[in-house]
Amino acid sequence: MRYDLHCHSTRSDGLLAPGEVVRRAASRGVDVLALTDHDEVTGIAEAQAAAREAGIALVPAAEISVSWEEDVTLHVVALNIDPANETLRGGLAGIRAGRDGRARRIAAALEKAGIPDTLAGAMRYVTHESLISRSHFARHLVDRGVAREVKDVFKRYLTPGKPGYVPHAWATLPDALAWIRGAGGSAVLAHPGRYKLSRSGMRELVTAFRDMGGVGIEVLSSSHTAAQAAEFGSLARAYGLRASCGSDYHGPGESWLDLGDLPPLPGGLTPVWADW
Ligand code: AMP
Ligand code: MN
Ligand code: MN
Ligand code: MN
Repeated sequence: MRYDLHCHSTRSDGLLAPGEVVRRAASRGVDVLALTDHDEVTGIAEAQAAAREAGIALVPAAEISVSWEEDVTLHVVALNIDPANETLRGGLAGIRAGRDGRARRIAAALEKAGIPDTLAGAMRYVTHESLISRSHFARHLVDRGVAREVKDVFKRYLTPGKPGYVPHAWATLPDALAWIRGAGGSAVLAHPGRYKLSRSGMRELVTAFRDMGGVGIEVLSSSHTAAQAAEFGSLARAYGLRASCGSDYHGPGESWLDLGDLPPLPGGLTPVWADW
């Protein structure tokens, strides 16, 4: 069975509609797909219908933006949630509501760095009525000729310490994990290799995450090198966490891995789907 438990659609910052993501996954041999739009669950119904038609399993899911300690942003993948859960939906709506003000602050920061009037341009890439992300700014800045590729825009402008990056308060970790638990889901720490944490900082995070009810970490991710996959596999074993895997696919031409392009999990791990 081929699992891909992390990807995005036009209901957040992906380039394909939920149904298109599912059909692409099915055509690439994925048996079990989780659609994990950022802070949003409204793509799941369309994805479910497409999955039924394509004969694959769709895991209702989301990727929740969380603030941790001094301006570290974490992503928590919520798997097997009830997308109708009101508390979860309210929590996600609250996170999305903060994105507009943040987008204005990003535009102001870019203006200070000599790139004016980016908000309207970024908005042209937005495919959801209330969800603007750094990806939309990045696509617009590629249009403007600021860099050739989205990932270069991130490197030069949109990551911590760079001129277009602004701090932001997302959900707290206890809140996010309570919403996930309340909606019957399993919390998985997304792409841990992306967080700028020391060894002890990572241990502290994983301990807190587990103590708050987190059940797994992404071992295989397009954000991870092979060495990081091994490292986070060991961490999962040491902390009794389950292992997950996801391409984090966003769309043609913008992703390091296509849907389903994941090697088997390293040995000795309990997959997050062990009792599904
Ligand atoms: P936001 O939730 O608005 O902060 O946007 C986060 C999204 O930006 C991530 O989910 C990725 O899609 C994208 N992103 C973050 N860092 C990078 C990077 N270094 N290169 C390309 N895309 C990135
Ligand atoms: Mn994204
Ligand atoms: Mn993420
Ligand atoms: Mn993602």
